[in-house]
Amino acid sequence: MATLTLRDEVTQLLQELIRIDTTNPPGNETRAAELLRDYLEPHGVQCELYARVPERANLVARIPGRGDGPTLLFLSHTDVVLADAAEWQLDPFGGEVRAGEVWGRGALDMKGQVAAEAVALASLAREGFEPSGDLIFAATADEEVGAGFGAQWLCEAHPEAVRADYCINEGAGDRIELAGRPYWVYSTAEKMSAPFRLRVTGRSGHASMPAIADNALVKAAPLIEKLGAYRPERRLIPEVEAAVELITGSKPESPNAVLETARGIGATFAEMIEPLLSMTLTPTMANASQKRNVVPAICDIVVDSRLLPGQTIEEQTAIVRGILGEDDYALESLEAHGGTRSPVDSPLRDAVQSFVDGVDPGARALPICVAGFTDSHWFREAFGTVAYGFFPARTMDVDTAARLIHSADERVPVEDLELGVDWLRHAARSLLV
Ligand SMILES: [Zn+2]
Repeated sequence: MATLTLRDEVTQLLQELIRIDTTNPPGNETRAAELLRDYLEPHGVQCELYARVPERANLVARIPGRGDGPTLLFLSHTDVVLADAAEWQLDPFGGEVRAGEVWGRGALDMKGQVAAEAVALASLAREGFEPSGDLIFAATADEEVGAGFGAQWLCEAHPEAVRADYCINEGAGDRIELAGRPYWVYSTAEKMSAPFRLRVTGRSGHASMPAIADNALVKAAPLIEKLGAYRPERRLIPEVEAAVELITGSKPESPNAVLETARGIGATFAEMIEPLLSMTLTPTMANASQKRNVVPAICDIVVDSRLLPGQTIEEQTAIVRGILGEDDYALESLEAHGGTRSPVDSPLRDAVQSFVDGVDPGARALPICVAGFTDSHWFREAFGTVAYGFFPARTMDVDTAARLIHSADERVPVEDLELGVDWLRHAARSLLV
């Protein structure tokens, strides 16, 4: 053990984590939590398993602080999404290393970061690192489904274990070039996932005599068209303003001008920015009669909708009613997750920038809002934590990585794992001095 480099250590730990099948559902994350505990404890790290049900444990480990500084949480999740072995070139649960990459489900999302967080913590502990405030590591269950066994439950049931001033989680960390200059992306905010059901009502009847019925499916058609044709009003959120200002040196003038500016910077940046200029409404599911010869009295349309951080369900409902007008329908909100933000500027941003200065002189840390959402929002909501998504990656290009997440042949370069360990150690040493 003593002769292992951090690079070997993080690679081996990731291989072992991949070999534990934590496909969610059902998850079975306890074995991953136990593996991490067995790895950490010999390095003198205090570990605790918290489980709502025995087979779905969350691991929380910490290096206690002196008590005179902020607390920092390394956050990650141990569950993964389904892998269909037939689509893979290598065993998705084999954890094989090939050509400098660790292969397997979760390599990128996100057992690679789990391993890096554990190794950063263990290495700091055995070096005798004495942080000002607690350095905490939480490897949680059930991020991919979010059925209440993981981060959400921990924040509610064991807030004392995971409360933190700063949090480093998944969500960004790629190195990108824009207008010829390098940037490292860190995510500070998330859109809210707020799907709703549009229920259109009519009157059922036999399909052979349609005139005496009132067909909810037919009535739904123009409403679906209206939703599909809607072009939402654009607005400028602070994250987009900050990113554009960082790149161009001046604040964008208007929400409409910003997309032109973004296109001028590059197609990649324009693609990043566009979903961040407005809420989205996307009808995705429809359900009406279960029988060919029965005119449906009810037609249900499910609409995927993502709100900008700060937008509310009330605002969404008002907009949708404005689009649809008065008609025989009802709206029902199905869930509301995410939509939180942390400030773009903070000591955690300074840590990202000073890390970038060290590994890529001249590059800048670039804040973004992500279109999806992560477990960061539970911590922002529960404790006001400044939570960023940042796990640096520069060996694998952004587009390749994006294609591999939740897909076949997922793998992570060992170089990026090592870079991740370096980042986390740097963050702890900069914030908890
Ligand atoms: Zn993830």
